[in-house]
Amino acid sequence: MSEENVFLNGDLSLLHNKKIAVIGYGNQGRAQAIVLRDNDLDVIVGNIKDTAWKKAEEDGFEIYDISTACGKSDVGLILIPDEVAPEVYYNNIKPAVENKEHYILDFASGYNIYYGFIEPSPNMDVIMVAPRMIGAGIIDLHKNNKGYPVLLGVDQDISGKAWEYAKALAKGIGAIGLPRGVAVKSSFREETLVDLLTEHTWMPILIASFLAYFNVLTSEYGVNPETIILELYASGELSESAKAMAEMGLFEQLSLHSHTSQYGQLTRLEKFYNNDLLEVIRREAEEILSGSFAKDWTLEQRVGMPIFRSLLKKAKESKLAEEENRLYKLLGRK
Ligand code: NDP
Repeated sequence: MSEENVFLNGDLSLLHNKKIAVIGYGNQGRAQAIVLRDNDLDVIVGNIKDTAWKKAEEDGFEIYDISTACGKSDVGLILIPDEVAPEVYYNNIKPAVENKEHYILDFASGYNIYYGFIEPSPNMDVIMVAPRMIGAGIIDLHKNNKGYPVLLGVDQDISGKAWEYAKALAKGIGAIGLPRGVAVKSSFREETLVDLLTEHTWMPILIASFLAYFNVLTSEYGVNPETIILELYASGELSESAKAMAEMGLFEQLSLHSHTSQYGQLTRLEKFYNNDLLEVIRREAEEILSGSFAKDWTLEQRVGMPIFRSLLKKAKESKLAEEENRLYKLLGRK
């Protein structure tokens, strides 16, 4: 680790006298807008006329359609879903700001810039402040005076101050300048890679192993589905272990488990960490960096997402989902 890539604070005064437009009042937009305003920054919201518009009004924000909000602002935070951002950028954002002398355009993910789906105008500093935290978590941490990790990136630096703006914004949205807050110097490419690689490797591998565990134990060993579902994730033990990993470290948290458990985990780790697994990770990383996944996903969206819909249906109609539904109703969770 090189310490010069890790920032614990930013200079909020760089954003004083600048109007900040939060574009999209959803998971991230609402959280970031509220924290920015609590930090005494001048925030307006740009959104389509939907329930989020009403929510922003109820929360006391000045709200405009996206073009008007961009036209009125010096800084724009693009906090709409990645798949709609290019269209919104070219139809609403670019025409409203391309004649300004200087505009700061911020992204919360690297996707659209890395793949070239958005090519920003030359009058912009293009920065990325990508939270490693869901919107609800940002608000909770803010209430408790705690920060969270963000990845920073700069794609275009016309002012010479783009990194400083990124750090200032990270402070403004409550990520850094507080206990637990840390900003890491990254890039749009790196953020895209780590974000998608999580979604393409260990998350589906975890779910696949849950499914295989469930199917083998119910059909071949006669184990009750509810015993398995509670064992795997419904008890909350998994989330406690994940919390312990974050607090204590991946291997230090092993000490919270029995010696039998630790011995079993470590010996099987040796078995599963092999060349086949490394090859899976390599192949998926290559598909992300080459743009092949992004191309597939774009095509899938263009034709109305038939594969996405059918896979979601298959998952929701699986035996595991059916048994989970029954158990969760019994437990009063549904
Ligand atoms: P949301 O899905 O919550 O959507 C944000 C807003 O965009 C909503 O108000 C939504 O309106 C609006 N929107 C949807 N479609 C359109 C459209 N066609 N035109 C204009 N506005 C539209 O997004 P997230 O907050 O989850 O994600 C925003 C960004 O933050 C993304 O880049 C994402 O990768 C990044 N990010 C998200 C994280 C998360 O926790 N979700 C974590 C870190 C980064 P409506 O409510 O009507 O759909």
